Amino acid sequence: MKPANTTISGLGTTVFEVMSALARQYQSVNLGQGFPDDKGPDEVRQAAADYLLNGHNQYPPMMGLPELRQAVAEHAKRFQSLDIDWQTEVLVTSGATEALADCLFGLIEPGDEVVLIEPLYDSYLPIVRRAGGVPRLVRLEPPSWTLPRQELAAAFSARTKLILFNTPMNPCSKVFDREELGFIADLCLKHDAYAVCDEVYEHIVFDDHRHLSIMTLPGMRERTARIGSAGKSFSLTGWKVGYVTAAPDMLKPIAKTHQFMTFTTPPNLQWGAATGLRLDKRYFESLASEMQGKRDRLAGGLAQIGFDVLPSQGTYFVTTDFRSLGFNGTDEDFCRHITTEAGVTAVPVSAFYDDPGQAPVHFVRFCFCKNNSTLEAAIDRLKEYFRR
Ligand code: PMP
Ligand code: GLN
Repeated sequence: MKPANTTISGLGTTVFEVMSALARQYQSVNLGQGFPDDKGPDEVRQAAADYLLNGHNQYPPMMGLPELRQAVAEHAKRFQSLDIDWQTEVLVTSGATEALADCLFGLIEPGDEVVLIEPLYDSYLPIVRRAGGVPRLVRLEPPSWTLPRQELAAAFSARTKLILFNTPMNPCSKVFDREELGFIADLCLKHDAYAVCDEVYEHIVFDDHRHLSIMTLPGMRERTARIGSAGKSFSLTGWKVGYVTAAPDMLKPIAKTHQFMTFTTPPNLQWGAATGLRLDKRYFESLASEMQGKRDRLAGGLAQIGFDVLPSQGTYFVTTDFRSLGFNGTDEDFCRHITTEAGVTAVPVSAFYDDPGQAPVHFVRFCFCKNNSTLEAAIDRLKEYFRR
């Protein structure tokens, strides 16, 4: 038999699937893969249920239901002061995962360079490479995850087609500030590059940090694709409803990819997402403050056990250094070990690097978007285990 595509067939199974399967096998408390215990807002699920029973369950328009595209545009105005034309500048996708693939396949020409920031979300590199892009990786170093400006500037050149990055950032929970975004924007303008910005955790931001879209910065309105996800904003990760916002000329090739990737997304879930995006500001504020409380609960518990807990400015996650517990193994060993021995699962941060062999191997990521009882159970189990 002829070989399949080698970029794809050479991939392993994603760390989230691997760790969740292990968690099921050992019936551990799963703080690995990021999905909330919360059911999501009643009115959002009710809207989707009503639409399922009474609405038009046939192919929605390829760009998405008008109601959702309008809601995405209104939401961008409300939270980022962006004026978006819902008819030409919004595309609905089957999750941010599809949105990312549409942007990368739609924009990258084989041989184009793509700047990415490590640690990075696991779907980015395989799609960049499958699109023929040449990755130029720049690393944030723990524990501060500061933007290495010199390295970033050196990664850009006339060959750069785009930078793909994520803020608030999974897994290191960094929220890029205006200065950092301004630095990235200047590089994009200088080298005529696009920015594809994964903003799925836009509403899950803590303390005095604020989410700012790079699209709002001078010169970036025409060259940014901004990606959101109903899964994250409404605690409905199984829904897989995402949205891309970009200027008309930039959105066109992205939408052309979408038409042959999935073509469309279930209409009832789009309807539900539209209801969600129109919820009162108080909903979004309480989502952030509830998550912040959970962050504090888990981070406090882990620190008490002896983990070195890194700051978390946003997302569902907190990163910890486990060397202080005296464990002499890699992050992968540690995650397996606490799953089988303590009954708690986390994910190794080295999985968020191109070459895990060249990555730091003493950080693990815990997810805190869980019921307080789930968090307490995890803390108790780890406390009990490390006391021995
Ligand atoms: N980007 C990041 C940074 C994520 O953490 C996730 C995970 N959910 C996604 C994209 C994918 O989002 P979706 O489930 O909407 O495809
Ligand atoms: N985004 C989720 C995480 O980082 C996982 C999504 C997935 O499993 N593909 O945990």
